[in-house]
Amino acid sequence: MTAREVCFLIGHDGSVLWADASNSPTALPDSRQRWEAIWSNRERLREIAHSHPVGPAAFSREDETTMAALDAALGRPLRYSVVAPRVMIVRDHGETSETTDEPWWAALLRLASGMRKDSRR
Ligand SMILES: [Zn+2]
Repeated sequence: MTAREVCFLIGHDGSVLWADASNSPTALPDSRQRWEAIWSNRERLREIAHSHPVGPAAFSREDETTMAALDAALGRPLRYSVVAPRVMIVRDHGETSETTDEPWWAALLRLASGMRKDSRR
């Protein structure tokens, strides 16, 4: 399976509200369906997570632009995360940090993205 970026919308209760995938390991184009899912779930939406299956464990410039636009549209700062092969980073109230306590869906996001743990290399 080819690696690809995957996006999850996460609810306040930790459930996956919605998911979609790109065709690329290094891009997740904006989509009307995703925006509509964000808007219709905005009351129960806590976090938007996406994968960087070939890294880096950082928000891209495009991610920054998208996050700023979403916060402005929703009128509040959401939580954002990037799940990379070895690390997950979280942006919460403007501060970015590595998380050592990954939620259950991080493994699912890696699996859906075609990431390998590289534990045998
Ligand atoms: Zn990204």
